[in-house]
Amino acid sequence: MSAVQLVNPATEDVLRSVEHLDAAAVDDAVARAAAAQRRWARASPAQRAAGLRAFAAAVNAHTDELAALEVANSGHPIASAEWEAGHVRDVLTFYAGSPERLSGKQIPVADGLDVTFNEPLGVVGVITPWNFPMPIASWSIAPALAAGNAVLVKPAEWTPLTTLRLGELAVEAGLDPDLLQVLPGTGPVVGERFVTHPGVRKVVFTGSTAVGKKVMAGAAAQVKRVTLELGGKSANIIFADCDLERAAATAPNGVFDNAGQDCCARSRILVQRNVYERFMELLEPAVKAVAVGDPASRDTEMGPLVSAAHHDKVASYVPDDAPVAFRGTAPTGRGFWFPPTVLTPQRTDRSVTDEIFGPVVTVLAFDDEHDAITLANDTTYGLSGSIWTDDLSRALRVCRAIESGNLSVNSHSSVRFNTPFGGFKQSGLGRELGPDAPLHFTETKNVFIAIREEG
Ligand code: NAD
Repeated sequence: MSAVQLVNPATEDVLRSVEHLDAAAVDDAVARAAAAQRRWARASPAQRAAGLRAFAAAVNAHTDELAALEVANSGHPIASAEWEAGHVRDVLTFYAGSPERLSGKQIPVADGLDVTFNEPLGVVGVITPWNFPMPIASWSIAPALAAGNAVLVKPAEWTPLTTLRLGELAVEAGLDPDLLQVLPGTGPVVGERFVTHPGVRKVVFTGSTAVGKKVMAGAAAQVKRVTLELGGKSANIIFADCDLERAAATAPNGVFDNAGQDCCARSRILVQRNVYERFMELLEPAVKAVAVGDPASRDTEMGPLVSAAHHDKVASYVPDDAPVAFRGTAPTGRGFWFPPTVLTPQRTDRSVTDEIFGPVVTVLAFDDEHDAITLANDTTYGLSGSIWTDDLSRALRVCRAIESGNLSVNSHSSVRFNTPFGGFKQSGLGRELGPDAPLHFTETKNVFIAIREEG
């Protein structure tokens, strides 16, 4: 075992250190989780529902504490961190309704009765990134537990604190301590052991596309189930017929939320050429008005980047000769600060094609609907996107043509716990959230029961 020091990204102060587990500790956790899973699966659906409701109530009672931890560990603005803790409660509450609704099917067949059962997979391994530690963990924990599984979570190295606390709250709520275990450690040790351990029946991986491909390749050796939630480079398409004032006023929020460290960030703004100049005039004051600063302050809209290493990566996309149109402001001094930045590069520039994962947005002009769709789809990713237009037919035509899992029209909404979420192309595989999520943690078993002839 080794320990790693966690740093407050707004101050660079050391918060505390966390022990990293080794592969043997993972093996031990899998064995204990397998036993706990069998007990949990035997509990009645109503008991499992009650367990999830109790967990949700414990999270609700500790919203302030969880939010403060996320402010300190991840630099999220306090209002965002409070929303995230409340979202975890809501996700748990939503899926608390599932154990009693996971009904199979009765299928009409000859000579007997045919029914299907939704059997739990067993032990599920969940690997999360550092950008939204609490919500992303809950998207697997809640539906997987609801479907009768045990869950092991490996949080990202930089941001394990809220996930560790969620694990404790599950125990305080009365869940078996081995049913949901949070296992801090590195990706190559703890994460890879989830992939190679035969007792882990599914891996849900959220993170970069590069590591997601390794997880998928490793899982193939055991035909292990995977859900992959990977990177994005989403487009915010502004047509001339839209409410241009509103589109410009909301564009910063569509990309700079969580300092751009958001897989759904609309990091490519595409603007119809005949309104391009006017849009940029409207966008500039909106970008300069983004309040960047102390994440503990309620006035703050954008905090720091998560780490020094990530700051350096983001900064590499804005060299001295970068085509900067305008920038917002950010504190100087200690902390990993980066101002909201608007670039106007060529279509082939790496700032247009790479996922920067920071507060840097590119703006490109397009000629017509066909050009907009071609530009939007000119990426290996396909996670999210927005379309701004007052023409309903155009909105639907463009939505159907864009290769992306989550689109919004005249809004930047991406994630709701009751609607499905996930990516096309190299943004991922499978879907999270929505009414079907528990089914993604089950196997369908078909049982035929013969009916004997009378006499
Ligand atoms: P990352 O891929 O570096 O790490 C993600 C997780 O994988 C971490 O817990 C890490 O420890 C672990 N890991 C690293 N190497 C591993 C290995 N060999 N085997 C198993 N696990 C391993 O990603 P990141 O930098 O933490 O997160 C940023 C990325 O996550 C971005 O690309 C972003 O778009 C993506 N993301 C996607 C979604 C989504 O829902 N699609 C949501 C959030 C973030």
